[in-house]
Amino acid sequence: MTRHVVQYSGGIGSWATAQRVAAEYGPHDLVLLFADTLVEDPDLYRFVSEAAGQLGVPVTRVADGRTPFEVFWHQRFLGNSRYAPCSEFLKQRPCRSWLETHADPADTVLYVGIDWSEQRRTAAIERGWAPWTVTFPMCDPPYLTKDEMLDQARAAGVEPPVLYELGFGHNNCGSLCVRGGHQHWARVLEIFPERYAEAERQEQELRAELGDVAILRDRSGGRTRPLTLTEFRERQESLREISAA
Ligand code: SF4
Repeated sequence: MTRHVVQYSGGIGSWATAQRVAAEYGPHDLVLLFADTLVEDPDLYRFVSEAAGQLGVPVTRVADGRTPFEVFWHQRFLGNSRYAPCSEFLKQRPCRSWLETHADPADTVLYVGIDWSEQRRTAAIERGWAPWTVTFPMCDPPYLTKDEMLDQARAAGVEPPVLYELGFGHNNCGSLCVRGGHQHWARVLEIFPERYAEAERQEQELRAELGDVAILRDRSGGRTRPLTLTEFRERQESLREISAA
C-alpha cells in the first residue's frame, strides 16, 4: 500500500495537486499535510478545511509553534528574498518530522504543488526531500495557469482563498511573505495596512537588536542597501500624494 502525501499549503497549486492525486489513487491512502505558520490568513483555514472535506480526507496539521518573526528572533536573522529561515523551520522541518514518524520512504510518495511554470525548481526540491520520492502532478499536462486552477476550484464548489481575489500571487503567511518584492509589499500596504503596520513594527524591533537589516532591498543609484518597511511606506505615501495632486 503506497501512501500519498500532498504538501497541502492552502495555495491553489496544492489544491489542484490534491485533486489530481485523489482522482488517480482515491482518498483512502491520501494525506493532506498542512504546515501551519500561525500567521495564515483566516480564510486559508476555511479553504483548506472545505476542500479537504470535499475529498473526505482530514487535514493533517503540523506546526513548529512559532511565527516567522519569532523564528527571526531565535535565529537572529531577518528573513528576506535571498534566505527565509521561516520556511525551513515552520514548513520543511515540521513536515519532515511528520514524515519520519509516519511515512516509510519505501512506500510513500510526496506530492508538491509547483506547476510547469516553476519546473526549474523540481530538482532542488527532490534533493531536499530525499529519501522520499517527490512528484509534481501540476508539471504534467493538461498544463493549467493559476487562474484556471482557481476556476476549477469554483467549478468544484469551493470558493478560492480570498488573498488571490485581492490580487496576491500566493496564499501564505497572511500576505506577509518576506520573500515578496516591492510590488508585493505595496499591495500589502494598500490592502492590509494594519498587517503592514505590524510587520513594520516587528522589523523595527529586530533592527534595534540586529542593526541595519530589512526585509526589502533598495537597488536604486547603482548600489544595494536594506530598505525598511518604514521607508518603503513613506515612499509609497509620497507617490500617492503626487498622483493625487
Ligand atoms: S511564506 Fe514567506 S514568510 Fe511564510 S514561511 Fe514561507 S518564506 Fe517565510
